[in-house]
Amino acid sequence: MGTRPAPARPGSGFESGGAFDVSAPSWPLARQADAATGDGQLASLNDDELIGALRAWRRLESWCCAGLLAATAELARRRPAERTGPAAPGEFPAQLSEFIADEMAAALRLSTRTADAYLDLALDLATRLPRTATALREGSIDHLKARLISEATRILTDEQARAVEAQILPRAGQQTPGQLRAAAARAVLTADPEAATRRREEAQKDPRVRHWREDAGTAALAGFGLPPDEVLEADQRITARALALREAGLSGSLDQLRVRAYLDTLLGQDSTPTAPPITDPSPAEPTPPRDPATVRRLAARLNLTVPLTTLLGLDAKPGSVAGFGPVDSPLARHLAALAAADPTSRCCLTVTGGDGLPIAHGCLPGPVSPPNDLGPRTLAMTLDPLARGSCDHLHQESGYHPSRRLRHLIIARTPTCAAPGCQRPAARCDLDHTIPYDQGGRTCECDLAPLCRHHHRCKQSAGWHLDQPTPGVMIWTTPAGRRYITPPDAYPT
Ligand SMILES: [Zn+2]
Ligand SMILES: [Zn+2]
Ligand SMILES: [Zn+2]
Repeated sequence: MGTRPAPARPGSGFESGGAFDVSAPSWPLARQADAATGDGQLASLNDDELIGALRAWRRLESWCCAGLLAATAELARRRPAERTGPAAPGEFPAQLSEFIADEMAAALRLSTRTADAYLDLALDLATRLPRTATALREGSIDHLKARLISEATRILTDEQARAVEAQILPRAGQQTPGQLRAAAARAVLTADPEAATRRREEAQKDPRVRHWREDAGTAALAGFGLPPDEVLEADQRITARALALREAGLSGSLDQLRVRAYLDTLLGQDSTPTAPPITDPSPAEPTPPRDPATVRRLAARLNLTVPLTTLLGLDAKPGSVAGFGPVDSPLARHLAALAAADPTSRCCLTVTGGDGLPIAHGCLPGPVSPPNDLGPRTLAMTLDPLARGSCDHLHQESGYHPSRRLRHLIIARTPTCAAPGCQRPAARCDLDHTIPYDQGGRTCECDLAPLCRHHHRCKQSAGWHLDQPTPGVMIWTTPAGRRYITPPDAYPT
């Protein structure tokens, strides 16, 4: 095909059954697809040719993915674990470095979780799933299907995995991902009847509860890797409790009531409407709270981040809450009010400049009364300016462990682990001396940064190096000799 003369028209060859409609992805196909697409050429294709171009790009996408994964496997081949010898040509080291995904995350600007998924798939295709690798390279399956096969067969022996791929691949190209998933699950069960049980038990070793900010500004809370029996029982209880709330006169759809029941259970509160006024058992409380929201409190360090202009009352830009994300100002005020209701709360305020970078941080020593707005009259606190560009060591301390105040300054500046792609909140990281304390590193803004345990080890492992040339600007040098800069996080402006 490489020697074939260029087609008369950009679209010819892409018609049904034409050479470019069916050929395996290759450089010539990429060139033809690009010629048929670029410079507005698509408009000159008839519908049949357009579908052919669409199909060609799809196969090329798989081809690109196969190339990316092959390069990933080669990187892994070159990265033995410490105290492990290099691999023979074409083989893999007996044990791989645990920081390969981190090198990928830095290079491709991925989260470490995504980089890990790429690496796992690349290794599977390079070692135990040769036919799946070929199918991806030839464009008969896509990235999603390759990943689906790799994940479904991960609990099998290499031999079983090959048997499964041989069984499901012939039809995989014609199936939807859902159909392929079902076919793979059946084939895995045939190959190893106990595999499904093992896979579930394996997954249950990594249970987690996560919350995140949804795009609409609402929040989600979910558990993963949970035991199915307990989840089924819990779900039934949520419904039973929701129905009881409806029985007691609370209005709302079943979904709305189930959410109330879910949160009531977790927060130890009761949304049952108090129709007849109940007598308050404690005379110290003048008005018994009825609305569950008013009895709630947020026993936590509430770390609000607001732009300086909002703080000065010049505008009302959204703020941000550490560990959650952007919040509108009514929500920010509501959260502050909740935190104020708990005597163990600590309120912190981080102020950002026009570029979204934090410029100052202040901690209130104890609980605060809820600020009516985030204006200067309602918050009496001392703001410490953060060092930027250079450091005058204003906040330097002599000991190894930074004080609470210095910790807060560092975390306000760098709210997550300072490694590329790592999202672990700084509050759950160690504050690492970039230059070790015993080698003259200062306990100061210019030498401290949060690193999670994994990236702390990564920094210290062979081939990696970390510098902090100015406060909060981290330069990571990887074993390949590339340098990546992670600046302090900018908050939304
Ligand atoms: Zn603070
Ligand atoms: Zn300093
Ligand atoms: Zn990290």
